[in-house]
Amino acid sequence: MITVEMFPAGNGDSILVSFDHHIILIDGGYTSTFRDHLEPRLKALDAEGKRLSKFIVTHIDSDHITGAIDFIRKNGPAANPAIIGIDEVWYNSYRHLQFDDKEKGNFNGQLPDIQLQGGLESKEADDRGQLVSLPQGTSLGSLLLKNKYAWNSSFEGKAVKSDAPLKIKIGDGLSFTLIGPTSTSLKDLAEDWKVYLQKKFVGKLNDDDWFDDAFEMMMEEKRQAEMEADGEELEERLVAGSNDWVVDNSPEWKKQDTSVTNGSSIIFLAEYGDRKLLFLGDAIPGQVETAIKQLPLWNGTSLHLDLVKVAHHGAWPNNSPALIDMLQASQYLISTNGYRHHHPGLSTLARIVSTAGPLEKKSLVFNYSQGDRFSDLKLQEMRDKYHYDLVWPDVDEWGNGKDGYVRVEI
Ligand SMILES: [Zn+2]
Repeated sequence: MITVEMFPAGNGDSILVSFDHHIILIDGGYTSTFRDHLEPRLKALDAEGKRLSKFIVTHIDSDHITGAIDFIRKNGPAANPAIIGIDEVWYNSYRHLQFDDKEKGNFNGQLPDIQLQGGLESKEADDRGQLVSLPQGTSLGSLLLKNKYAWNSSFEGKAVKSDAPLKIKIGDGLSFTLIGPTSTSLKDLAEDWKVYLQKKFVGKLNDDDWFDDAFEMMMEEKRQAEMEADGEELEERLVAGSNDWVVDNSPEWKKQDTSVTNGSSIIFLAEYGDRKLLFLGDAIPGQVETAIKQLPLWNGTSLHLDLVKVAHHGAWPNNSPALIDMLQASQYLISTNGYRHHHPGLSTLARIVSTAGPLEKKSLVFNYSQGDRFSDLKLQEMRDKYHYDLVWPDVDEWGNGKDGYVRVEI
């Protein structure tokens, strides 16, 4: 049996998938996700004698990595973990990006002389948007190095990436087919970072873990600045009128997400027995469409799945109609409380429920109820017409209860 648990990760992700005795953790959400939910859950697994086969941190954005940093910091040495043993971590950081040799150099132990001009202002937001300073030496990358975790060891310590579907055996009957990120998306991330780095830093790159810190901190700072500039994303309107609202009122899909960090997401298809689950991180739809068409399971029009973790918390720019139509899944996981970005896009949900497909019934699985935001989806006439179920956390009408956590079995 497969169980999938979505933890309260605010507007982010933290998902535990148990394929019988192979347990995979995908992303860590925020500090509160780890402290209040992940840590007790992982300790309970450890008490049962279990380990994590893989801890996959899809990309460096704070809604995925913050709780992961807390976890590794508290777990301590890989050889003597305080919470639970981890067989391998998948995570792409500074040292997995490609730089030209001419950009690399040797500091001869003189790092303090080459500090950033103007200082490094690093911040990470928790799920309430409060800013917390992050001291140097505590990035996920440097913690993994210091504590000697098996880091990207399936890839000989290099980047977790695939330019064509790459099947990796995880254990008895379980395999992952890696479909992203591509070399190009990691190159874009490297270029983006270099441009930002050059504004503050004079010197050459090397393998010192100082650069792992600087990479995470500066990308976070950059993302915060981008979000401040963007302001709040506008709420889409999807007004129920006739019983065809799900089709008629979906705004036209115009633009694709351009975030290079989202584009660097680790994305993969998990196959266990005859079950197929697709985890899309915060991926960019054009990249996913290309990769899916290369999968052996692609039948020319669709990919049949038991479950898909919908990309980027269901944001409309990450879920093109073409991509949604390509995926025919029984269960669609949507992890977000809607904070700040109004995720998921209502148009995404409308497209998912109305897309034509051979399935008898599909379920949309939410880990936050978000008040009455999805009330139109609950209409019985829509559910009868489009054959879908809604799965919500166990909360009362005032939102009290276990909002944020949902568990499904496959
Ligand atoms: Zn995210």
